[in-house]
Amino acid sequence: MSCSPPGTPGSGPLPPEGIDDEASHSVVQRRVRVSGSGPVTAPSFGEDLGALRARVRALVEEWLARGRFTPQCDAWLRGHDPAFSEALAANGWIGMTWPPELGGGGRSNASRLVVTEELLRAGAPVAAHWIGDRQIGPAILRHGSAALRRAYLPRIARGEVTFCLGMSETESGSDLASVRTVAEPVEGGWRLRGSKIWTSHAHRSTHAYVLARTDSSGSKHEGLTEFIVDLAADGVEVRPIHDLRGDHHFNEVTFDGVFVPDDHVLGTPGNGWKQVTEQLAFERGGMERVLSTYPLLAATVAAADRPTPEVAARIGETLARLATLRRLAWRIVVAMDAGEAPIRQAAMLKDLGTVFEGDVNELARAVLQVEPDPSAPGQAGLLAQGVLAAPGFTIRGGSTEVLRTIIARAATEPGRPDDPSGLRSVADDVLDGHGGDPPGEPAVPPPIWSTVTELGWPGVGTPEERGGSGGELGDLAVLVEACGRHTVAVPLAETAWARMLLAQAGRPLTEDIATVALPHGEFPTLDGGSLSGTVSRVPWGCAARRLVVPARDATGAVVLIALAPEAPGVVREPGTNLAGEPRDLVRFEEVPVGGEDVAGPVPDVHGLAATGVLLRAAAIVGALETAVARTIAHITVREQFGRPLIAFQAVGGILARMDSHLTLARTAVDAAVAASRDGTDVDRAAAAFVIAGMAATEVARGAHQLHGAIGVTREHPLHLATRRLWSWRDELGGDRHWARLLGERLVPLGPDGVWNWVTHDLDVADHGTP
Ligand SMILES: Cc1cc2nc3c(=O)[nH]c(=O)nc-3n(C[C@H](O)[C@H](O)[C@H](O)COP(=O)(O)OP(=O)(O)OC[C@H]3O[C@@H](n4cnc5c(N)ncnc54)[C@H](O)[C@@H]3O)c2cc1C
Repeated sequence: MSCSPPGTPGSGPLPPEGIDDEASHSVVQRRVRVSGSGPVTAPSFGEDLGALRARVRALVEEWLARGRFTPQCDAWLRGHDPAFSEALAANGWIGMTWPPELGGGGRSNASRLVVTEELLRAGAPVAAHWIGDRQIGPAILRHGSAALRRAYLPRIARGEVTFCLGMSETESGSDLASVRTVAEPVEGGWRLRGSKIWTSHAHRSTHAYVLARTDSSGSKHEGLTEFIVDLAADGVEVRPIHDLRGDHHFNEVTFDGVFVPDDHVLGTPGNGWKQVTEQLAFERGGMERVLSTYPLLAATVAAADRPTPEVAARIGETLARLATLRRLAWRIVVAMDAGEAPIRQAAMLKDLGTVFEGDVNELARAVLQVEPDPSAPGQAGLLAQGVLAAPGFTIRGGSTEVLRTIIARAATEPGRPDDPSGLRSVADDVLDGHGGDPPGEPAVPPPIWSTVTELGWPGVGTPEERGGSGGELGDLAVLVEACGRHTVAVPLAETAWARMLLAQAGRPLTEDIATVALPHGEFPTLDGGSLSGTVSRVPWGCAARRLVVPARDATGAVVLIALAPEAPGVVREPGTNLAGEPRDLVRFEEVPVGGEDVAGPVPDVHGLAATGVLLRAAAIVGALETAVARTIAHITVREQFGRPLIAFQAVGGILARMDSHLTLARTAVDAAVAASRDGTDVDRAAAAFVIAGMAATEVARGAHQLHGAIGVTREHPLHLATRRLWSWRDELGGDRHWARLLGERLVPLGPDGVWNWVTHDLDVADHGTP
């Protein structure tokens, strides 16, 4: 069967009611020009972060060279060396964000991220100051009296005062508000009675933060108070507990009538619950929730010299996850710098990050194929450390189940989506109500396509002087994402991508539908002016009025050929993907090609595909958003056992995972867009597609599970998003292919090069938007 003739652009019905065509045209064009009219304003961190990073590395290397520490997994909890902490303090790297008059550095949280991630990467012994620097100092700064701030912040910043965290008790773990340690008011202060457990480094710290009950008359969230306790005080007893590794960092700490002066109450008596939940954003939102096993990952990358395709794919996926989690951590510090307490994002980072840390162990097992040996140096020792530490990752700092409850609750609260340029809401206005199944006719896009073309969307991302609509790749990604969100089946991504390639090759642009016939195996060949070969699964191949065909010429180089599909020898046969979108076969049977139709050679074949891959990832993000939104709508009204489904924790846990994966996919696309200032960044685009593909799997699975039988029908609209997700993750070679490619491109860089790739965006001049 061959394709029927394509529809005529512009012949569709008028734009939908409620849209003033002229007005929306000018709005979109203006939006695109506005956001594309200059570089995105980079957040200012007030210092050269690249230089700061280099200084931290120099200190770490000096200590390593002197044999002062051996890199280990989970060093931020286990590597306790006050001398190292003092060396950091001497450089101003403790209390970096606190005001200078209180001993701090007056620097940004982004600067602190640079320092902490370099130390974590090195597996350096930072445990002595970690708790004080990360959360108790910030808590004192936020809630402490002026006297408490003056008394403690400078000494923490100098490394003289070290803190342990007295939250958990034998009977109070996940339910922290149920603590039984009490403090009674006495003359000049409080008497503390009770005991805390799992208190890391209580035996080595000078002070403890303690959450205690001071009033039992109200609800359990009321009447809690935070205290700063001197561990040298009478009545404090510390009992050691050894962990799975045999290490002693845990303790049980008993307070037997310990006197705490009034001025050591942190904040307001009774306000402890509100204060402690804010503190948890600091506790959960850092890279220590991602990098506990990084020394093992670095050893694995170093060992995977010539990876098999399977190993390359696993490493590529791991590094895509790591880079995206790191980008999420960056967003958290930017929010903190803006004075926010990003509790939800911090919970997501900790949930996704701690699962990642555990998965690094499994990657290392598969790649290194050594037996874990606690007494061995190198790979076997690191693997032993990682395996024995891993069970604690998803427990400490709030267990996975607790985090998912927080995330699920936040997901159901109304919120406004990020829309810095306003383009998202313009696109929503245009596309709303036009979603649905693709038309059965493969050569004819739905009527909304004429509106989309009149608005100039297919030319977005191509400069006006080259015949495009202006704007940047990021603007186009917003529009493509909107098509995914509204499940509108139009060839926007394909046409815009083809037009970009034509513009880059200096070839005339088409006003009509265009597509890129990108082969996933052998390229068609161009020999003696004649093109031969077959490309399958070409999106909108039958509808296209212009085909952009990468082909191999007689020298073996890849060139780009622009063809009209009416050319003799072009044969097209319709096909569809799982969502019914056109994915057609295009055969070239000795098609005559003139020299003016050929451009190239193409320097980077992967670069050719990268824009398409990035746009596909953006479309996936749109469909993910719809699948999550439909699921929330369903589980908040659907009742079983007399309650809405969302009231059940198991249901909330699935929703939380879906929402976290959506956030991760969006973060990965944002990172790829930000990195693509001078052409699409292949590695970031690959990472975005890999993460989006993973999210597609996770979200579609969760959405169907939570919809029950109704989701398995064509009557319910969920399938419009999920069938697309299942299709798109396997297109353009599929997420596994791009994971493999990413692994093959990054592994040769070695651990240092890989780390530079992961952390690149903070140090470059144009940081992009977080
Ligand atoms: C390495 C490590 C270091 C630590 N360091 C400190 C420290 O320095 N200071 C400190 O105060 N604490 C510390 N902790 C304690 C940690 O905060 C607690 O272990 C954690 O809050 C969980 O409490 P729990 O161990 O009592 O588990 P529980 O609360 O008993 O939970 C056990 C399991 O049941 C699940 N669960 C509990 N309630 C629910 C529910 N309602 N629905 C579904 N599932 C549920 C949990 O998710 C978990 O999987 C540390 C823990 C570890 C592992």
